[in-house]
Amino acid sequence: MWIDDYSDDDDEEQNTGQKSGQITEKNPNDEKKDKCKCSKGCTKRTCACFKFGSGCNASCGCGPSCQNMFNHLEYFFGNEKKYSANPCFSNWLVENVKNADELKQIDRNQLQERIMKAACYSDACGFDDELGKWAKKWKKISNDEKLDHIQKFFRMLLSNEDSRYYYSFCREDFEQEDCTWHCVKCQECNDWREWHCGECKKCTYGISLPCNGCGGRSEMSNIC
Ligand SMILES: [Zn+2]
Ligand SMILES: [Zn+2]
Ligand SMILES: [Zn+2]
Ligand SMILES: [Zn+2]
Ligand SMILES: [Zn+2]
Ligand SMILES: [Zn+2]
Repeated sequence: MWIDDYSDDDDEEQNTGQKSGQITEKNPNDEKKDKCKCSKGCTKRTCACFKFGSGCNASCGCGPSCQNMFNHLEYFFGNEKKYSANPCFSNWLVENVKNADELKQIDRNQLQERIMKAACYSDACGFDDELGKWAKKWKKISNDEKLDHIQKFFRMLLSNEDSRYYYSFCREDFEQEDCTWHCVKCQECNDWREWHCGECKKCTYGISLPCNGCGGRSEMSNIC
């Protein structure tokens, strides 16, 4: 077997430099679509909606047979508006639950407590006004307001809505949205300096540096 592995390595070496200078960046997070083409199901990442943590809608092809668990995100985000799960939360859900029933068995209080235990929680509340206000209200919340307030917390940290911070399950901590991102191909939270090479199909470090797999460049490398 190891001989096969060795010859693979050889191929890779031959490829080195082949793409030098060409832009090989392909941010998989930008491929998000607003509908899928499935005819049924939508239970796997092959569904364009499921893949990006979104529920299906009337323009999708799936109709009443749709089993996309992300149709039930109001459990976390409330009914006010339709939200998608951010890439890190989507991946955590896919790793932990198989369907909508299991999704609704996730203990929201436990999840909220877990997030509040993160090392950077109080720092984040200090830097971000919205989180600061949230934390202040949480301290004197009445029982019947709790669920609404927890869902607000989840909307700020786990949804696709822009905010200063998101909660990273990869790192078990708060991350700033402009410093860290979760790559949907590599399924990990990466530094903003990392970019996804479409040739090598993995993230590589250094926005101004060539990809260490193929020598390709990031779109940002022109500006740097
Ligand atoms: Zn689908
Ligand atoms: Zn869909
Ligand atoms: Zn669907
Ligand atoms: Zn992540
Ligand atoms: Zn990647
Ligand atoms: Zn590459």
